[in-house]
Amino acid sequence: KSKARRARPETSHTTLDDVAGIESAKREITEIIDFLKSPERFRRLGAVMPKGVLLVGPPGTGKTLLARAIAGEADVPFFSISASEFIEMFVGVGAARVRDMFQTARKEAPALIFIDELDAVGRSRGTGLGGGHDEREQTLNQILTEMDGFEEHENILVLAATNRPDVLDSALLRPGRFDRTITLDRPHKDAREAILKVHVRKVPLADDVNLTEVAARTIGFSGADLKNLVNEAALTAVRENKDKVDAQCFDEARDRLILGEERDARLTP
Ligand code: ATP
Repeated sequence: KSKARRARPETSHTTLDDVAGIESAKREITEIIDFLKSPERFRRLGAVMPKGVLLVGPPGTGKTLLARAIAGEADVPFFSISASEFIEMFVGVGAARVRDMFQTARKEAPALIFIDELDAVGRSRGTGLGGGHDEREQTLNQILTEMDGFEEHENILVLAATNRPDVLDSALLRPGRFDRTITLDRPHKDAREAILKVHVRKVPLADDVNLTEVAARTIGFSGADLKNLVNEAALTAVRENKDKVDAQCFDEARDRLILGEERDARLTP
């Protein structure tokens, strides 16, 4: 058969406890979770949930994590695709994958569909460099068709992540499609501390580690960077034969991550 693998959902074990520092988004998320858990309660009161929600934020700010947490909390199947996968595919494959995923999700509803890197296929049509991005346009058109094709009562929620909302085709943002947005920003100091706390849960820390201080010294770090920092610190402790991760491990890890980034920045003009 074609490359159109059958869509298979995951069971997400991620919960809201795994997500920190995004208090502002939490109320909206709670509502979405409640809806997926008991859609009939919303319907009885005449409340209509959006079909599509856009998760907007820079890389590593937890968009995928949040989508997984919503599925995990609501205990619904989690379908995911990354739109960037379609770019290199043969014409028609992306559209077929999208169609297949929506079809399967409808059978398993209530369900959550997550489209990562929506901008990879969702850029405004007709502005592609060199034109003729057939695959991209077909995939985008299929997403639009599918979103128009299911009704509110089918209890499917589509979440899509992007860090470039500015380039999205306006057709995606029309009512009945991705008409709601949740914005995730780079975490401020308190949020960074909360995120660090999530990631040190299984890490034995020495008494001299002060996470408030670590948070203060990691301006500009995303959630993914902070996760990475904790892991680098733990690796440092292993390397130095320590039985706990101490403040020095964090310092070294931080220096290494920051220097690594500066080196990368110098390499890419
Ligand atoms: P990208 O745009 O690069 O796909 P993303 O916004 O989807 O990034 P995630 O893949 O969700 O980011 O984040 C990567 C990892 O960073 C997560 O699995 C999680 O471990 C950690 N992380 C990011 N944000 C948070 C957060 N708010 N709380 C806890 N952990 C976080």
